Amino acid sequence: MFGYGQRKSDNTKYYEVLGVPKTASADEMKKAYKKAAIKNHPDKGGDPEKFKELSHAYEVLSDPEKREIYDQYGEDALKEGMGGGGGGGGHNPFDLFESLFNGGSFGGGGSSRGRRQKRGEDVVHALKVSLEDLYNGTTKKLSLSRNVLCSKCKGKGSKSGNSGKCYGCQGSGMKITTRQIGMGMIQQMQQICNDCRGSGEVINEKDKCPQCKGKKVAQEKKAVEVHVEKGMQHGQKIVFEGQADEAPDTVTGDIVFVLQLKNHPKFERKHDDLLVEHTITLTEALCGFQFALTHLDGRQLLIKSNPGEIIKPGQYKAINDEGMPQHNRPFMKGKLYIHFNVEFPESGAMSSEQCRTIETILSTGSKKQLTEMEIDECEETTLHDVNMAEEDMRRKHQQQQQRYEAYDEDEEGPSTQNVQCAQQ
Ligand SMILES: [Zn+2]
Ligand SMILES: [Zn+2]
Repeated sequence: MFGYGQRKSDNTKYYEVLGVPKTASADEMKKAYKKAAIKNHPDKGGDPEKFKELSHAYEVLSDPEKREIYDQYGEDALKEGMGGGGGGGGHNPFDLFESLFNGGSFGGGGSSRGRRQKRGEDVVHALKVSLEDLYNGTTKKLSLSRNVLCSKCKGKGSKSGNSGKCYGCQGSGMKITTRQIGMGMIQQMQQICNDCRGSGEVINEKDKCPQCKGKKVAQEKKAVEVHVEKGMQHGQKIVFEGQADEAPDTVTGDIVFVLQLKNHPKFERKHDDLLVEHTITLTEALCGFQFALTHLDGRQLLIKSNPGEIIKPGQYKAINDEGMPQHNRPFMKGKLYIHFNVEFPESGAMSSEQCRTIETILSTGSKKQLTEMEIDECEETTLHDVNMAEEDMRRKHQQQQQRYEAYDEDEEGPSTQNVQCAQQ
């Protein structure tokens, strides 16, 4: 639509739904959302599905952290582990709409639904992890600060537990005003009451809770332990359900950690497989080599060529079961690919005499000879031939399979039900 190339994950849909370019500012998106939401509001005879879609797109893109995740990994990354039914997030589209419009300009529509328990915002954090963390599994201890209901008044805001009905809005939290919009038409405006900020209640000054001064919430430092499991993927989410900011009459949202894999100096991850670059000398390529490779768990692998084998520049070899552990099946491991670079001698490195005796030169000396003791400390490995194009196909297939499995689990998970109950 806007001429942006499709990347691996679809991260343009939300922009298209709102009709804005990917570079749109927060303000531009807000305007676009308002315009489209008015047009598609079910109270105005719009399509509820389209309205939901709009609201969800705006909900994601208006949150800088969610937008970043969406831009990088697409919709799926937001869905995974979100605990939200359908489009993820699980927020009520009407709440979002009303919060943006401060009550909106829809006569009648808003008030008839009455008060329902809102769902609080999810708090999304990026969590940086190393490849070692994802290979071995780890626990990250973090300290977060969040709002909790005041312990003294249990979120009531008053000593007595009572609060008076707001005079300004008769306790509805909303004020309705009318205005003429020309040609004898009258528009009814519904706005959040200024006196009580939409809560519909006021607390007597003397009755205010001394601890929170009527605010109902307090800040709390919370220590969380995030268990990063073996084989987890970059972009995967770890969800602490109902651990985000507490607020009165609100179902507490989730704290969501999104794993961000740091680049590794030696290994590159390819889903469940690992790739390592290794440079050998021309002599080693022709006459054989062996070297010790320190794995992500500190084990030393002895990697050696097969007798008589010649390694060509750019060639790949693989060791089975030395790749990444599979998430939830950590005893199942992918492959470890080795990509060989062959270092040729510099021009002029050999005299003409040496060239004449090249056979002699080639038959001696690897880059680094391992001692008997070093060899004893290593684990034996076997190198297999691999076709990298075929390996890529296999991995893609495997990745898809696992994604379907993950969706199946999601549907039966308890989190989806929770959210549905809360919205009823
Ligand atoms: Zn009020
Ligand atoms: Zn209090």
